[in-house]
Amino acid sequence: MRSVRNVNAHQPVNLFGGIEAGGTKFVLMVATDPEHIFARSSIPAREPAVTIPEMIRFFTQAQEHLGSLCAIGVASFGPVDLNPRSPHYGCITTTPKVAWSNFNWFEQFQKALGLPLKVDTDVNCAALGERKWGNAQGLDNFIYLTVGTGIGGGAMVGGTVYHGQSHLEMGHMRVPHDRQQDPFPGVCPYHGDCLEGLASGPALEHRWGTKPADLPPKHPAWELEADYLALALVNLIYTLSPQRILLGGGVMKQVHLFDLLRDRIMRLLGGYHLPSSMDSFLLPPGLGDESGVLGAIALAQQTHAYAEQGGDDENPPLFQK
Ligand code: ADP
Ligand code: ZN
Repeated sequence: MRSVRNVNAHQPVNLFGGIEAGGTKFVLMVATDPEHIFARSSIPAREPAVTIPEMIRFFTQAQEHLGSLCAIGVASFGPVDLNPRSPHYGCITTTPKVAWSNFNWFEQFQKALGLPLKVDTDVNCAALGERKWGNAQGLDNFIYLTVGTGIGGGAMVGGTVYHGQSHLEMGHMRVPHDRQQDPFPGVCPYHGDCLEGLASGPALEHRWGTKPADLPPKHPAWELEADYLALALVNLIYTLSPQRILLGGGVMKQVHLFDLLRDRIMRLLGGYHLPSSMDSFLLPPGLGDESGVLGAIALAQQTHAYAEQGGDDENPPLFQK
């Protein structure tokens, strides 16, 4: 673990902690905003018995060097139970990462650290961060979709991250799959050929036998990838009416995909309910790879502000402006 580094001599008024808990690594941060990041570390995602003490050490050291934190936000891999009325609120549920199955962020992390803590999904946090500091500033209705090891999305609806019963699972939506054109069965362990099964990074890798980063821009992989993603995006446009869609994640590092998608979306919309400008409708995240962890900082700030207004900080609602 990288040790805590004081990057600014001035003690800020309110310090916040952020955690992006991902499949391969956990990113830890103490910051007030993207311009004021006071400590940062990246640790490998191991089992909770190893990773949790590392995280506690990081935030304890950070507080010794920098001062008390007001709250911590967690941008967690899912699925995670975000229904405050559920007995499993804050638990990671049916994850293939067996050691984290039923892990309870409140019981097993917050209590040890003794700070207010709020958990949301990685993509919901990314949406929060992008609205506060990134490419969705000023927007009340937009979608953040990541296309990486998995596909996941968060929707800002009327200025609030939409949760439904717990959180959305956009990656598992069904898209038409022409098995003659594409006999690949898909990689989703639950559905086979859902969107994630057909268009995630691992789907590309298994279908074409090459790491997606090594597939050249003219490879037919990208036309097919754009076909599936555009179908999903049009479904999202018609169901959520977003002002913008931000596309992040490793696969979207293929920037040529943006134009392929813009063309296909226009075609699929068929002239009905077109965004005014396709160029600004579909964008990468403004915070780059830090949307999630900075979004966790934004989540911590929301939690703190809510508690300051007299809310029950053990169980704040999910989640306002
Ligand atoms: P995660 O989803 O695990 O948080 P990423 O968003 O980085 O992480 O996504 C990782 C996936 O993206 C992998 O399947 C990887 O093959 C793919 N990927 C990473 N870089 C690129 C790239 N430059 N072009 C296409 N695919 C990439
Ligand atoms: Zn699926």
